[in-house]
Amino acid sequence: MYILNFILGACFGSFYLCILDNYPNFFNHSRSICPYCHNELKFYHLIPILSYIILKGKCAYCKHKISWRYPIFEIISGITFVLCYQNFTFFIASNIIVLLAISISDIRHGIIYDSLLIILFILIITHYSIDLKLCLFILFIGIFLSINNLIGFGDIKLLAIYSLIFDLYQMCLILFIASLIALIITKKRKIKFAPYLSFAIICILVI
Ligand SMILES: [Zn+2]
Repeated sequence: MYILNFILGACFGSFYLCILDNYPNFFNHSRSICPYCHNELKFYHLIPILSYIILKGKCAYCKHKISWRYPIFEIISGITFVLCYQNFTFFIASNIIVLLAISISDIRHGIIYDSLLIILFILIITHYSIDLKLCLFILFIGIFLSINNLIGFGDIKLLAIYSLIFDLYQMCLILFIASLIALIITKKRKIKFAPYLSFAIICILVI
């Protein structure tokens, strides 16, 4: 089970870095390409960690060095998945991994990818019976707030997804924890809110 979880985590890490590096072209390519020579990579060039070792950290075609962050992130993602699964259910462990990815993408690119939100949505609807009322309310208020640039629409979508399983009290708590930590950590007016929201959501999920 450890090995299976590690492989799952490593694959997720690999897939995620792939989206990050190829965005916004990710969905235009049916296969991954080398960012330097633009050759299409074969499936055996994309095996997490192993391909890096076998190819000695170089592209199979142009021999350009592949960044070390690929295997490192894949290993970290694999270990996180194992550790999470040890202590939490599959639902919580996978939520933590996806929220981590959402936080990194918000910090790096200032955007929350819909692909990650869709993964969260599928995770939630396959594990819980959902309640649409609060979700619609948050989307309604959220559209108004994001038009006035008070909060990003990505953050609203993230909140709306979790309002499918959390009640109003829990949603207020998430906003309160996230805002409080953001206030303590940063003095900037325009902040990337997703990492704070993710942290607060994980707190509520774990408690
Ligand atoms: Zn290449």
